[in-house]
Amino acid sequence: SKTYPGRRKGFGAPPPDVKAVQDVELAVGRGETLAIVGESGSGKSTIAKLMLRAEEPDPGAEVGFKGADGKTVDVTQLSGEALKTFRSKVQIVFQDPYASLSPRMAVMDILTEPLRVHHRGADRERRERAAELMRQVGLSPEHLSRFPHAFSGGQRQRISIARALALQPELLVCDEPTSALDVSVQAQVLALLKDLRDELGLSYLFISHDLTVVADLADRVAVMRRGRIVEQGPATLLFQDPRHPYTKALIAASP
Ligand code: ATP
Ligand code: MG
Repeated sequence: SKTYPGRRKGFGAPPPDVKAVQDVELAVGRGETLAIVGESGSGKSTIAKLMLRAEEPDPGAEVGFKGADGKTVDVTQLSGEALKTFRSKVQIVFQDPYASLSPRMAVMDILTEPLRVHHRGADRERRERAAELMRQVGLSPEHLSRFPHAFSGGQRQRISIARALALQPELLVCDEPTSALDVSVQAQVLALLKDLRDELGLSYLFISHDLTVVADLADRVAVMRRGRIVEQGPATLLFQDPRHPYTKALIAASP
């Protein structure tokens, strides 16, 4: 999968007074993990939203997605069935598993909902898939009847990951997937994301402010500041030999 986020994204009444993202050129290759790092408000989540078509870029921006079927779509122009198909291929895991899982739905319903919406399988097959997803993220299928409040933060994030995998996506966007978790479970959830990537051949857009996490997971890194990419390159190179003063400062500040 390949995605080129929009060059510019402004918010507010025209003319836009804030450019959340400007002059950004990024590509995530198939099976690759691209990390975006940068301080709060630098535009990381805006890039995620542009990729997912959760935000519309300003006119002139290009967001492309090349699927496993070899077809490239212009994400900004999608509608109807084509948009629905795209949405099944690109999924997101958010920072806060407490906010992203409906407290009123049992885990079985949370995991089968995407399958229902996309008309995948009969009821029994969807329930079997939910059990398989639970096992895949290291949870017992016996707990499918429970509600989110019965799980710990780390377990909830595992459920969020299972839901994101339900439709067998090609690209997984992780927007600070461990930042809201207890330090003790952060490493476990990261290890899970890494295993799933390798096992399923997923591509990741991985957003984080934690350079230790990024160094462990990313193939390539883009450093953002005030809506722009100040530097991007292979992870090993960027950490060993940062070019931009801001990247140097970020690395120096990291424990
Ligand atoms: P954080 O690390 O805090 O999550 P971020 O790097 O993800 O930050 P974004 O959420 O992409 O940053 O925000 C980039 C800029 O765009 C910020 O200045 C933010 O205030 C602004 N912004 C984001 N969404 C909107 C919106 N819907 N309306 C107006 N401004 C917005
Ligand atoms: Mg953000």
